[in-house]
Amino acid sequence: MLSTMQDVPLLISRILTHGSTVHGSSRVTTWTGEAEPHRRTFAEVGARSAQLAHALRDGLGVNTDDRVATLMWNNAEHVEAYFAIPSMGAVLHTLNLRLPAEQLAWIVQHAADRVIIVNGSLVPLLAPLLSQLPTVEHIVVSGPGDRGPLAGAGAQVHEYEELIAGRPTAYDWPELDERRAAAMCYTSGTTGEPKGVVYSHRSIYLHSMQVNMTQSMGLTDQDTSLVVVPQFHVNAWGLPHATFMTGVNLLMPDRFLQPAPLAEMIESERPSHAAAVPTIWQGLLGELTARPRNVSSLTQVTIGGAACPPSLMAAFDKLGMRVCHAWGMTETSPLGTVSRPPAHAVGTDEEFAYRLTQGRFPASVEGRLTGPGGERLPWDGESAGELEVRGPWIAGAYYNGPDAEPLRPADKFSEDGWLKTGDVGTISPDGFLTLTDRAKDVIKSGGEWISSVELENALMSHPDVAEAAVVAVPDDKWGERPLATVVLRQGATADFETLRTFLAEEGRIAKWQLPERWTVIESVPKTSVGKFDKKVLRRQYADGQLEVTRL
Ligand code: AMP
Repeated sequence: MLSTMQDVPLLISRILTHGSTVHGSSRVTTWTGEAEPHRRTFAEVGARSAQLAHALRDGLGVNTDDRVATLMWNNAEHVEAYFAIPSMGAVLHTLNLRLPAEQLAWIVQHAADRVIIVNGSLVPLLAPLLSQLPTVEHIVVSGPGDRGPLAGAGAQVHEYEELIAGRPTAYDWPELDERRAAAMCYTSGTTGEPKGVVYSHRSIYLHSMQVNMTQSMGLTDQDTSLVVVPQFHVNAWGLPHATFMTGVNLLMPDRFLQPAPLAEMIESERPSHAAAVPTIWQGLLGELTARPRNVSSLTQVTIGGAACPPSLMAAFDKLGMRVCHAWGMTETSPLGTVSRPPAHAVGTDEEFAYRLTQGRFPASVEGRLTGPGGERLPWDGESAGELEVRGPWIAGAYYNGPDAEPLRPADKFSEDGWLKTGDVGTISPDGFLTLTDRAKDVIKSGGEWISSVELENALMSHPDVAEAAVVAVPDDKWGERPLATVVLRQGATADFETLRTFLAEEGRIAKWQLPERWTVIESVPKTSVGKFDKKVLRRQYADGQLEVTRL
């Protein structure tokens, strides 16, 4: 028997219409590095999104399913592109501006982008690539920066503001199939070629509702969210869409992502929430320690993208910024788990330990653990295996061209269609996920596994250590052993013996897991989205570039 309910497609245009009317007075504020940030209401963003859609369709001939890419910082124009492009039926393709040039060119070609909207400050990055980008017909430039390098480009160059000026401020958004492509994002491709994940209107809509739940980010129109996580990193974790559902004000840092301007914008714009990967927060913590500021407005901080070190969570707690740890991937939209402690643990000694886990699955995300032989492992908080997930905003395949069959590589998808995350961990009986490592980062020592993350967290809890990354290196006797690479704080006095003793104290790390190989580095290499790049460290070690001390 069929239901008697209406079947209204879950479309991004509906989120835009809702946000720009019901929450029309909420604001997107973009940091400019000048005396005044730039402010625009949701109503204005709605009107300008309609103008952009008209400009793309009538001015540039963009059709349904055409890919329109963005090479942009987090700012109001990028939010307009987020809504205009999918709402008109085209596909938003956010480009990661920190990727090496060849990878960027490969991705644009693979997605066959027809238009690229670029920030003026990023023109020097794009211009040299254009000769390798035959599918790109139009470049639309927004914001300050020299346009000079685009002279002589094969593609037509337009000014964003001129292109949208005078166009109608309303658009009769098409009634699309909610399962159609809305946006796409390529994985950072640490091994092999990057893989394209294509989100649907439906997946983004449902994901946004989850982001808004109290047990996830749970923000309201009284909040302002500082979105440090880039809009090219899994749709800024869904925040632009989610906030237009609830009227949460957006504070966008544009290109000012260094600790000092971040501290300044928190002090002057007083956001209540912020989201970013741990390395950003480590930097901000250093800045606030060196130059204290009034950051009292910021009471909620979402940390994800890499494990949150306990020392960072504790330091932020002291500043009154409560960290909420979350796990996700490009393939999971990204919200996969969020760590809100269960009611019985609140106010007890257990609370902190719960907050450090990756968190619980929301109702729409199912998780299971698979052992090395493919066996299903129990949720007993002890059995460690590879995490597999499924749900309405989890990828079921990778993009392989508009008319080609999507790719379902066996190392990424199980036979019954679950996503194999490549993350290893345990799940407790009450559904809390604890990741011990990436499958490829775990150190396999004499048939036992050593968690690189556990060693890093223990090292970073030493007051002399600013950052630490641990990688597996080949060892004649044990197969692999950990190499500890350490960034010391200014004026630090600890030597390797001291750090090793510290790791062994208070049962922090089992004796057999203690690293023998140590090195001091200036900074931990970072990936394009700010995570520790262990691939680079492994290569540096293999090439003999690191001066290693053996204890
Ligand atoms: P990306 O697709 O670039 O966002 O990378 C996703 C990967 O980041 C995951 O598969 C995890 O390995 C890692 N990751 C994300 N969030 C966390 C977290 N809270 N703790 C540990 N690892 C994380």
